[in-house]
Amino acid sequence: MLILNGKEVAKEVRSALVPRVANFKDKTGRPPHLSVVIVGDDPASHTYVKNKKIACEKVGMTSTIHSMPATTTQAQLNQALEKLNADPEVDGILVQFPLPKHLSSDEVLRLVSPEKDADGLTYASLGYFFAGKPFVSPCTPAGVMQILKHYQISVQGRNVVVVGRSNIVGKPMAHMLTEAHATVTLCHSKTQNLSEVTRLADIVVVAAGKARFLGKEDFKKDAIVIDVGMHGSGQGGKLCGDVRFEELDGWVKAATPVPGGVGPMTIAMLLQNTCLLAEKRAGF
Ligand code: NAP
Repeated sequence: MLILNGKEVAKEVRSALVPRVANFKDKTGRPPHLSVVIVGDDPASHTYVKNKKIACEKVGMTSTIHSMPATTTQAQLNQALEKLNADPEVDGILVQFPLPKHLSSDEVLRLVSPEKDADGLTYASLGYFFAGKPFVSPCTPAGVMQILKHYQISVQGRNVVVVGRSNIVGKPMAHMLTEAHATVTLCHSKTQNLSEVTRLADIVVVAAGKARFLGKEDFKKDAIVIDVGMHGSGQGGKLCGDVRFEELDGWVKAATPVPGGVGPMTIAMLLQNTCLLAEKRAGF
């Protein structure tokens, strides 16, 4: 079984960004800039935000973390986002979810300009994306497409099953695969006989958010398995995905591990999106 190494592909994406960032800086006098907004004290969210800042620095981009207290009101958050929308030196905006319960993610997804939406997940961004005119593509499905491209796995004409229909992963994943000419089946919690459906697929992308949910018996021989799932509480408290990876060797053709598969791609695509948005606004 070929292990699809997301860490390697992410490194390749970052390396390709370094000259683009330098070129942007040469032409505009500053590197692309990502502004990350975080509200409250959730330690895991603060770690994710810190990792995004470090990732920006690695490719020569700059970033600012706007850390707002848990007592922030919706009006204050909206005002901060409007200020970032209007700031000519901010190229990408990312609001770290989840927000504290009294704040509305809906408002954030309405407010952040698609011209600066580094995640590609606001309602306007998704509208352009599904209309086939994306500013940028949502990071995680874009990361999956990049892994497939890197390993020269063509999806054209192939039967691909996506398990999960969230706005963040499943739906945009199905759209990107369709645009790449795959024949796509989108499954969800009401799908009947899921295993019978996944066993027909040449490629299965699993994003159900259920730890160790699918295994060898759910895939046909020589299938390609992409595991988007991420869970901190697998066997022995280790990070695991939606797939029982250890069952796959000798049965499927290729699969992404967790950790080290799709996960590293998401941040790499966030950087790529920020650079792309910067270039577009600068008219490159
Ligand atoms: P989500 O919003 O919880 O969506 C889960 C989807 O799976 C829903 O559409 C749900 O169906 C479907 N589902 C649940 N149980 C199912 C079942 N028994 N059979 C078939 N479908 C089922 O999750 P998400 O945000 O898309 O994330 C999915 C997973 O990816 C999570 O583990 C998350 O941590 C991970 N993730 C990883 C990255 C990364 O960077 N690697 C990024 C984002 C997400 P319904 O619509 O019918 O409820």
